[in-house]
Amino acid sequence: MLRIENLAVSYGRAKVLLDVNLAVNEGEVVAVLGGNGAGKTTTLKTISGLVRPRSGTISFNGEPISGLPSHAIAQLGIAHCPEGRRLFGGMTVEDNLFLGAATPAARKNQHETLDRMYELFPIMKERRKQHAGLLSGGQQQMVAIARALMAEPKLLILDEPSLGLAPKIVTEVFEVIHQVRDAGVTVLLVEQNVAQALGTADRGYVIEQGAVALEGGAQELLKNEELQKAYLGI
Ligand code: ATP
Repeated sequence: MLRIENLAVSYGRAKVLLDVNLAVNEGEVVAVLGGNGAGKTTTLKTISGLVRPRSGTISFNGEPISGLPSHAIAQLGIAHCPEGRRLFGGMTVEDNLFLGAATPAARKNQHETLDRMYELFPIMKERRKQHAGLLSGGQQQMVAIARALMAEPKLLILDEPSLGLAPKIVTEVFEVIHQVRDAGVTVLLVEQNVAQALGTADRGYVIEQGAVALEGGAQELLKNEELQKAYLGI
């Protein structure tokens, strides 16, 4: 579904991605792991068209997308749930959700999609008239995921969905990611929480210094000694 080849990205003179190669098959959950500043967020932002690549190719369902504006990439079926949730705290939960239906096709179906979101996240229905900024961190993360799903994407990109959340809530977020995949949406996520991410994902990639240092099936990666030492403290 998604194929990234030889991707290089710079911010000014700083080369952040040197050579990233990565693929996501339809129906998978794929985790991108790595230390702070490795280039994980940059990889996601480049897929979504928020950052332009210096070189390399990105294709989605066989179509080249690198260099396209982000609205065109969204229309092809990629939705990005950013790090830090980025909700409009002074707007209601429901209005935040409607903002996610940003493509013409999604806008047409927005009321039906909203009903589906309320089925997936019942608490959101209860809180729909509250300001999003008043919700707990976990609930805000659920709203951010639901807002991205309002675009009816084929591929959902999640940047650090567990950031700053209590362990019990992190488990709930990963359960939601399972449900999203079961509903037919492919998921690419960046995580610092390596154990949980690989517990949920089918496959993973470890990015170090702007390139893929390690890749494989999630269970195989969990058993990898290098990864255990670097990220799991084993
Ligand atoms: P983290 O987990 O800390 O978010 P990351 O792997 O997601 O790390 P990126 O956010 O992709 O890393 O950042 C990679 C490098 O690029 C870092 O050194 C960061 O300081 C730098 N960087 C990120 N955004 C910009 C920007 N807009 N301008 C300049 N440098 C940037």
